[in-house]
Amino acid sequence: MATFGNLSSRLTDTFKNLRAKGKLTASDVDSTVREIRRALLEADVALDVVKEFTGRVRERALGDEVNKALNPAQQVVQIVNEELVTILGGEQRRLEFAKNPPTIIMLAGLQGAGKTTLAGKLAKWLRDQGHTPLLVACDLQRPNAVTQLGVVAEQAGVAIYAPEPGNGVGDPVKVAKNGVAEAKSKQYDFVIVDTAGRLGVDAELMQQAANIRKAIDPDEVLFVIDAMIGQDAVTTAQAFQQGVDFTGVVLTKLDGDARGGAALSIRSVTGRPILFASTGEGLGDFEPFHPDRMASRILD
Ligand code: GDP
Repeated sequence: MATFGNLSSRLTDTFKNLRAKGKLTASDVDSTVREIRRALLEADVALDVVKEFTGRVRERALGDEVNKALNPAQQVVQIVNEELVTILGGEQRRLEFAKNPPTIIMLAGLQGAGKTTLAGKLAKWLRDQGHTPLLVACDLQRPNAVTQLGVVAEQAGVAIYAPEPGNGVGDPVKVAKNGVAEAKSKQYDFVIVDTAGRLGVDAELMQQAANIRKAIDPDEVLFVIDAMIGQDAVTTAQAFQQGVDFTGVVLTKLDGDARGGAALSIRSVTGRPILFASTGEGLGDFEPFHPDRMASRILD
């Protein structure tokens, strides 16, 4: 993944040096851990997360599992791999389905994070599995957002519920409620609610998102975050966690060139699992998130 290109090559180089050694001394371990720390910080991983990560790697690398290993360097790589899987969330967390359909999914995040695109990707992914999702257009702030969702719905081959005179123009909470009612009456089994984002976190946006959440009681609230936003990821994620208490995270733009440290910080910082990854502008550039696969890609 392009986002981790730099981090990957830094780690690979570090491990190459390590492999050149036979038995590892404490100072070999320390210099390796220092290199890992530097590589993670350069990738924009949050400082606290880096500290916790390298602390665990160091402790394990100095312990018996490495000391007694046939190939100590290989064992250290294995430890780094396992700890990466841990900070990425451990087990895969799948989408929650409602016991009684429709399953209601609300999307939240900053403007430009990729919510609207994601709504289409998620809808297509569900449709491909035989589900009948309804997209609900509650981003009434950004000019064109409703039209954009319409385009995405058409590409995905799914239905859309959008404001028009009489169904709550200008009031996203009403549109969300009516959209869910429409899904119930027409027996769609999923509802995906796209909400407004701003360029920065703001109180009004958060209140609106919180009001929508309260009105429709979603099964999942997915916080959509651009993996390339660097150190801002932590404060943004915390603000959304406080504001809408999201149940899961979607990482977008993992195909980008910038440093994707957000991807590695978000789980630890919020305690919420990453459910999906978006890797391009096309509707097919999307996949359920597997912590172990992501760790392997980083260490590839
Ligand atoms: P929203 O404001 O959160 O609804 O964001 P949009 O869905 O409109 O996306 C903003 C821009 O990012 C658009 O140009 C999308 O095509 C682009 N985009 C969304 N997801 C991805 C992704 O995973 N990778 C890349 N490269 N671009 C993306």
